[in-house]
Amino acid sequence: MLVNMRYTEHLVLSGIVNGAFLFILYTNFHVDIFRAELIVPLVGTFYIFSILPDIDHSKSHASGILNLFLMCLFGFSAFNFYRTFNPLDLAKIIIATAIFIVHVKYSENSRLHRKFPHTFTFGIVACLLLYFLANSMLVCMVGAISFFTHILSDGYVIRAIEKDRTLWRLAGSRITAIKNRISKRKGF
Ligand SMILES: [Zn+2]
Repeated sequence: MLVNMRYTEHLVLSGIVNGAFLFILYTNFHVDIFRAELIVPLVGTFYIFSILPDIDHSKSHASGILNLFLMCLFGFSAFNFYRTFNPLDLAKIIIATAIFIVHVKYSENSRLHRKFPHTFTFGIVACLLLYFLANSMLVCMVGAISFFTHILSDGYVIRAIEKDRTLWRLAGSRITAIKNRISKRKGF
C-alpha cells in the first residue's frame, strides 16, 4: 500500500531507527558518536537522506532545501564573480542554474511523483557520493538507513525493486546493443 507521508513523519520514523542503531553502537561497541567531527555530519546526513527521495516532488521539503541551496550558491558566486571575475564562480552560477532548470522540469506536483529518486539504485549512488564526501562508513550507514526508512515508510519497497529491475534490464540491453555495434564495425 502506498503511503503519502509528510517530511516530519519521515524524520520521526527515521530518527527512531537511526537513534536505535547509534544507541547500540554507543553502548555495545563504545563508538563515540558525540565527537563534533562526527555528530554534525551524522545529523546532517540523517536530515537530508530521510527526505531525499521526495526531491522528485516539486513542493516537497527536500525540493525547498535544494532550491534554497541553489539560490545561495548562485548569490554567493554572482557576488564573488562581480568582485574577482574568477571563472570558477561563473561555472558555479551555470551549474546552479542548470540544476534548477533540470529540477523544475523533472519534479512533479502530484501524487504520482515517485520516480528515479524512489529507487534503490538512486539510494546506492547517493550513499557512494556521501561516502566520498564524508569519508566515513558510519555516516554512509546512517545515510543508507535514512534512505531505506523513507522508502519503507512510503510503502514503496516492492515498487522500488521493480523499478530497479526495469532500470538494470534497460541498462543491460543498451550495453549489449553498444557491444554489438562495436563488434559489427570491427567486422566480427
Ligand atoms: Zn517519498
